[in-house]
Amino acid sequence: MPRPIHATIHTAALRHNLARVRQAAQDAKVWAVVKANAYGHGIERVYDSLRAADGFALLDLAEAERLRALGWRGPILLLEGVFEPRDLELCSRLGLWHVVHCDEQIDMLAAHKTQQPHHVLLKLNSGMNRLGFTPQRYRSAWARLNALPQVDEIGHVTHFSDADGPRGIAHQVEAFLSATRDLPGERSLANSAAILRHASAAQVRADWVRAGIALYGSAPDHPEHSAAHWGLQPAMTLATRLIAVQRLAAGDSVGYGSRFVAPAPMTIGVAACGYADGYPRHADTGTPVLVAGVRTRLVGRVSMDMLAVDLEPVLAAGVHAGFGSEVTLWGRAAHGGAILPIDEVAHAAGTIAYELMCALAPRVPVAADTERGA
Ligand SMILES: *Cc1c(COP(=O)(O)O)cnc(C)c1O
Repeated sequence: MPRPIHATIHTAALRHNLARVRQAAQDAKVWAVVKANAYGHGIERVYDSLRAADGFALLDLAEAERLRALGWRGPILLLEGVFEPRDLELCSRLGLWHVVHCDEQIDMLAAHKTQQPHHVLLKLNSGMNRLGFTPQRYRSAWARLNALPQVDEIGHVTHFSDADGPRGIAHQVEAFLSATRDLPGERSLANSAAILRHASAAQVRADWVRAGIALYGSAPDHPEHSAAHWGLQPAMTLATRLIAVQRLAAGDSVGYGSRFVAPAPMTIGVAACGYADGYPRHADTGTPVLVAGVRTRLVGRVSMDMLAVDLEPVLAAGVHAGFGSEVTLWGRAAHGGAILPIDEVAHAAGTIAYELMCALAPRVPVAADTERGA
């Protein structure tokens, strides 16, 4: 028998979250962001649930090919554009839209021989200082692109650094509006945090929004708000089982470094999940976990293949916990339906849900609930 750990992708939750994004973004078109293999969920596994989006956005050309192979004929956007000249041939062949964020990408386009004029989105660096032309250089980049026979449509795009936090987006929206004023073409500004927090403003929604993390059921501004606050449902469950139970006396320790010492006699369970599965090693005693659907906590240091959990709250709730009991590391408990938000686990480990989703290890079997018939 394989190890009992497995991840489940909840297809109805993906559909629900996409509908929730549409509701927040009203009349805007929605790019479903599926970079990093759909934030670890698997492009093939999410495709059916997210194909109601208006387009898919990603960075990896091989992932774009996989989407075309699934039969997607609508828009696909390369969020970082091309990396080398021959990528443009694939853009022509697969009909990919691509971001243009630097002069070198314009040079490549100018040298590209194609029968198919390209649809590009010119990127403004409105303050993130990662990719894009500065406001001073934006219009000359646009004029250069506009003069190329290789290009027919030029849209406009920028990315927010603080849509989830107190600094907000006003300064970047202002820079975008002023740099793109009077230029033709569609506009796209908002990521998930901006969609949920700021998209009541038409200029933030613009023509397209780019939703990533919200589709997967995490709150981009946790811990200020929870996924439930935003009406989002978890799209991924990571679950395993207890493979051992230990009875501790007061003063007994648990795991490497004896990092947890029992203050009183207690029962702990050992779950088949460790950092080699993608569970964060930095998660400390107290990190929430569900055993048989009852909320309890991690104790001691996470090992490569195992972690220990406090069974006292489960037993106190009158729920049986022993060898084989279900352990939910994040997501939805199979029995009873209790939810452990991935955001809470990430927070306890000093990281964000994006990282946990993307770090799910290849050794963990993943299936959509439709495949499991759950
Ligand atoms: C990843 C990404 C997004 C999606 O961000 P979320 O916070 O996951 O919604 C949007 N735009 C760009 C340019 C991105 O790289």
